[in-house]
Amino acid sequence: MLAHIFRKPYPCSKCNRSYTNKSTLNRHLREECGKMPQYMCRYCHKAFHQRSNFQRHVWTVHGYVL
Ligand SMILES: [Zn+2]
Ligand SMILES: [Zn+2]
Repeated sequence: MLAHIFRKPYPCSKCNRSYTNKSTLNRHLREECGKMPQYMCRYCHKAFHQRSNFQRHVWTVHGYVL
């Protein structure tokens, strides 16, 4: 299995996440890291930082279109 040797070369210094490119890491630092998620799923109470991820979750997991 080779799949898990691929590394994400841009780790966040504040949490355990790491990212494949610098702009994604910067977005994480600016919008996510250390902040409370702004969106919460009303069906399973999972929290999201990004509206797009939240909408996709509700659609794919619960079958509702927001
Ligand atoms: Zn972080
Ligand atoms: Zn949910």
